[in-house]
Amino acid sequence: MKIHEYQGKEILRAFGVAVPRGKPALSVDEAVQVARELGGSVWVVKAQIHAGGRGKGGGVKIAKSIDQVRDYASQILGMQLMTHQTGPHGQKVRRLLIEEGADIRKELYIGLAVDRVSQRVTLMASSEGGTEIEEVAEKTPELIHKIIIDPIQGLTDADADALATKIGVPQASLPAARQILHGLYTAFWEKDADLAEINPLILNSDGQLIALDAKFNFDSNALFRHPDIAAYRDLDEEDPAEVEASQYGLAYISLDGNIGCLVNGAGLAMATMDAIKLFGGEPANFLDVGGGATTEKVTEAFKLMLRNPALKAILVNIFGGIMRCDVIARGVIAASKAVQLKAPLVVRMKGTHEDLGKKMLAESGLPIIAADSMEEAAQKVVAAAA
Ligand code: GDP
Ligand code: MN
Repeated sequence: MKIHEYQGKEILRAFGVAVPRGKPALSVDEAVQVARELGGSVWVVKAQIHAGGRGKGGGVKIAKSIDQVRDYASQILGMQLMTHQTGPHGQKVRRLLIEEGADIRKELYIGLAVDRVSQRVTLMASSEGGTEIEEVAEKTPELIHKIIIDPIQGLTDADADALATKIGVPQASLPAARQILHGLYTAFWEKDADLAEINPLILNSDGQLIALDAKFNFDSNALFRHPDIAAYRDLDEEDPAEVEASQYGLAYISLDGNIGCLVNGAGLAMATMDAIKLFGGEPANFLDVGGGATTEKVTEAFKLMLRNPALKAILVNIFGGIMRCDVIARGVIAASKAVQLKAPLVVRMKGTHEDLGKKMLAESGLPIIAADSMEEAAQKVVAAAA
């Protein structure tokens, strides 16, 4: 689960990491109000969306007067902000963060992620923080320093100091850097994050280190033990189809293609998408209906897929293990009738009560295209979508 920058900064503050003073705002008036409360003479007006690259996309503006705060707030609020992470349609800005302006001497980068190879948390840091960090990682990877953290030992002071020194933190600021690195690591560990980044972590002219941005992603499977984090969820930032799917216990991810997939089991669902692509097709979604696919669940899954205007054909690929094929067949028939299915439907089923399931589909009177192997199913659905 992703959260907003201002929420990430609340977490950082709670774990002892210095962040600028600031507050979220949902309207232009509120933005002006917050700026007045903060006082000072420079403010930053920041779009809050679940995507990075906002600065380059025009979603971060420095205001030198209250009038400018009002102008920028009305410009940014409601805009369709496009960044390299939002896709071509951009993301609508519904929330702002208004902060006191910081004077930047140096922009650094620090981040934590789970390294799959070592199966440990990896701390990354660079002297080249700021909006070009992706380019730094690509063109000069030697400027990104990494430490793989031992889960028992945690982040040691010696490692924290060595890393801070490598990225150019002056001697006098090392204790502050240590506190920030420990704070970020502890937040990541205790809150079950799977990504945490501060970019930029700035050094100001007083030698203070301040987190100017905050990005956290959390492991959704661990949210049950973090009600405080779960409360940060912002459904406006999520795909409506995916939100609805989660209410029915369906694992659904929208994709760019035109072939709907309804599969039981995540592994089979991925193999099904691979097979579709192998024969030149593009999946419209990933959908795992899970082990207990009832008629209701299958009906909801059909409805979700059909709401996609790009949909051209559907492939149902079911392995009947504990789930019997006749139960799935009943679900597919009832769902097809309930939604008055017009799109071509290819069905492949294997396993328990397969013959009965196939017989039911054949006798249903629905224009279902039957397939026996994965290969045949994929070829038939790609042809049907063409
Ligand atoms: P992102 O582009 O989505 O990662 O948004 P950031 O919060 O990282 O802001 C982008 C850039 O805006 C930063 O790298 C800074 O260069 C600049 N910026 C953000 N806040 C301030 C500030 O308080 N003062 C100044 N001078 N620049 C800022
Ligand atoms: Mn940033």
